[in-house]
Amino acid sequence: MNTSPGNTKPGNTTAGWMATRERVKQFVEQRVYPLEQELDSANRTQRNLLMAGLMDAAKEEGLWALGHPKEVGGQGMPFLDYVHVNEVIGRSFYAMQALGTLSLQDSLMLMRYASPRWRDQYLAPLVAGETIPSFAMTEPAVASSDPTQIETSGKLQDGHWIISGRKWFITGAGDADYTTVMCRTETDAPKHESFSLIIVPTNTSGFRIVRETPVLGIHGGHWEIELNQVRVPEDNLLGQRGKGFRIAQERLGPGRIFHCMRWLGQAQRAFDLMCRRLNERHAFGEPLSYKQLMQSHVFESAAEIQACRQLTLAAAHKLDAGEEAREEIGLIKVVGARMLHNVVDRAIQVHGAMGLTADTPLDRMYRHAREARIYDGPDEVHIQSVAKRYLRLYKEGGPGIDFGEVQFVTK
Ligand SMILES: Cc1cc2nc3c(=O)[nH]c(=O)nc-3n(C[C@H](O)[C@H](O)[C@H](O)COP(=O)(O)OP(=O)(O)OC[C@H]3O[C@@H](n4cnc5c(N)ncnc54)[C@H](O)[C@@H]3O)c2cc1C
Repeated sequence: MNTSPGNTKPGNTTAGWMATRERVKQFVEQRVYPLEQELDSANRTQRNLLMAGLMDAAKEEGLWALGHPKEVGGQGMPFLDYVHVNEVIGRSFYAMQALGTLSLQDSLMLMRYASPRWRDQYLAPLVAGETIPSFAMTEPAVASSDPTQIETSGKLQDGHWIISGRKWFITGAGDADYTTVMCRTETDAPKHESFSLIIVPTNTSGFRIVRETPVLGIHGGHWEIELNQVRVPEDNLLGQRGKGFRIAQERLGPGRIFHCMRWLGQAQRAFDLMCRRLNERHAFGEPLSYKQLMQSHVFESAAEIQACRQLTLAAAHKLDAGEEAREEIGLIKVVGARMLHNVVDRAIQVHGAMGLTADTPLDRMYRHAREARIYDGPDEVHIQSVAKRYLRLYKEGGPGIDFGEVQFVTK
């Protein structure tokens, strides 16, 4: 199975990704960076207005929806090329939305699994950035690290799904036009075949925003929602009944590679800030950069960034070659989130008290870095599942794994 997004074929790259990466980098640095502080403090209306300006600019410059397949209105950049572009998109928290990347995973999910009615209705406006999606899996009542415990139910009655349950930390739900709800639809199937994904437009009767769930003081990102006997047509189901986990997994694989590349972009920005500050600032008669304790921050950060980059590109190449890359993706989710957290933490330390204020982007980056160790599955879940997969290879005299035999080439 080729899980790579869009119209990519295994091994398909263009020679031109470096030029596109550079153009995107310029856009992020010159257009998005200057608006970040205003966007941070803006109310929802002001933020939407500022964002609309950035989105128009990205469209005018031919940088919009670079990774979306051409058949749905994107630019069809091959997966491996787009992996590199994501790194520079990641440098600013706002760039994903500004460049139309935000809807990529939802667009692919609709393209592959939605009924023709929903494809016609949602896909084009989704790619254009006019329709906002959200994805609802996590629930307050159960430890959602183990999603087989999810309690939200979906029952088919007279050609309609009746959905009831409560979800929280649903990113974008407060602004979303629809949410894709993971719910239990099967009662007598194996655990991993018991859940389905169903589209719920947010204006459906019974859908309610309960409250916002600000994360580490950041507002406007995530919400708790209630689904009270929400009734939607049978063809709102994505794919087949009971295949919710499989479809979600397909969404998460490439999604985690893009996440990790964006974390590398954030880490690069923190690294730049750290090194500049060390060269500029003086203490005890010499630049901070002369102090070995400070040099170790530079060394550790460079080492972690580069190790994480190689691991992430290896996972991307394996995925692009049509493999699931489950171990590699589990590894990068944990290593990438730790790397980001460590690098931003060191950059803050180097800046002293100023690093904790909004005078640099580091305070916001730090909060996002902390989140990265929990969303899309907390570290422990990935550690456990990767370790179990490797241990299985050694069971009952099995051959184990020779890491040196796993070849990949980075371009
Ligand atoms: C910023 C952010 C955005 C999010 N966006 C979304 C979204 O859009 N849609 C959505 O559905 N969800 C979203 N989430 C929710 C996120 O995916 C869940 O919080 C995450 O999967 C963990 O589930 P939980 O919070 O129920 O933690 P729990 O399952 O209650 O786990 C609590 C802790 O227990 C420990 N733990 C869990 N399992 C194990 C194990 N096997 N071994 C050892 N220790 C373990 C871990 O330390 C874990 O952090 C978001 C979360 C954040 C922070």
